[in-house]
Amino acid sequence: MKLKLFFLMALLFVGVIGCVEETVQPEPLSLKSAQANVVQLTPEFLDAMNLLIDERGDKFRIAMVETITKGNSDEIGQTIYSKFVGNKQLDSDFAPNDTWRSWSADNGNSITYAIDMTEDAEPSGLTAEETEAAIVNAFNTWDAVNCSDLGLTRNPAEGIDLGYLAFLYGMDGSEEIVADVMQCGWGFPLDAQTIGATFTFIWVDDTGEPLDMDGDGKNDVAFRETYYNPIFNWVVEGGSLDNIDVQTITTHEIGHCLSQAHFGMISINKAGKVIVAPRALMNSIYLGPLHELLGTDKAGHCSIWDEWPLY
Ligand SMILES: [Zn+2]
Repeated sequence: MKLKLFFLMALLFVGVIGCVEETVQPEPLSLKSAQANVVQLTPEFLDAMNLLIDERGDKFRIAMVETITKGNSDEIGQTIYSKFVGNKQLDSDFAPNDTWRSWSADNGNSITYAIDMTEDAEPSGLTAEETEAAIVNAFNTWDAVNCSDLGLTRNPAEGIDLGYLAFLYGMDGSEEIVADVMQCGWGFPLDAQTIGATFTFIWVDDTGEPLDMDGDGKNDVAFRETYYNPIFNWVVEGGSLDNIDVQTITTHEIGHCLSQAHFGMISINKAGKVIVAPRALMNSIYLGPLHELLGTDKAGHCSIWDEWPLY
């Protein structure tokens, strides 16, 4: 959780060198956010992170982040796009036979996941085993939808503090990508409205243009990673609107990790009650425990995965 001093030093150093060599330098915004120790998820933040990725020479960029909020908060969950990859706010999905995803299985045809089992996995006094069980249940829930032959498999994280973005941001994390879908735990300082956030990293070519290897009109996902907000009270039993149920939120976020977008209209009636239509796990707000996939959740999943890995 602690901001590393060397990161600040490194940013200052890069800034100084940048002035001399006129190279692209990170926006000061990332430094300001780091000092505030809370990350406001904005296009500008994503752009600043993408500049850092570009400087590292990695051939992927953050295309977007999807957030979920509490049903009784002032905001609803959003999808925030980076401007770095142009104004094309395209969907993103995994491309079959994508051997660049060396962390995948079966030559890119079997989607893999990994779970952070470090202290980041222990919010609100829960054990890593308790949150792990809820996350595995969440993956199994999606894997059980019988229209698809997705073949989710778990890769070991071997004690790695997962989180490429956290690493990039100078916090406890790792530049090591060990799976297509990484569950990075509760160690990243999301803003007070956001319960969870899934970041989509897409492949780009040498000029920074997004790739569409399988020609389906969607950007190709390199990997996705999810962070959960440690400031909330998380539970694995007896969840409510204020006691956030781990499995409900992880199932929602894994939906994003498997390329599902938010679904459902959200409104407030005259009595001030939040109304969602239709109710779905992929609603962008949390309304209490929900472990089963509902109609549109399954339909959305099937439309993405039913013919995987063939098109
Ligand atoms: Zn969401």
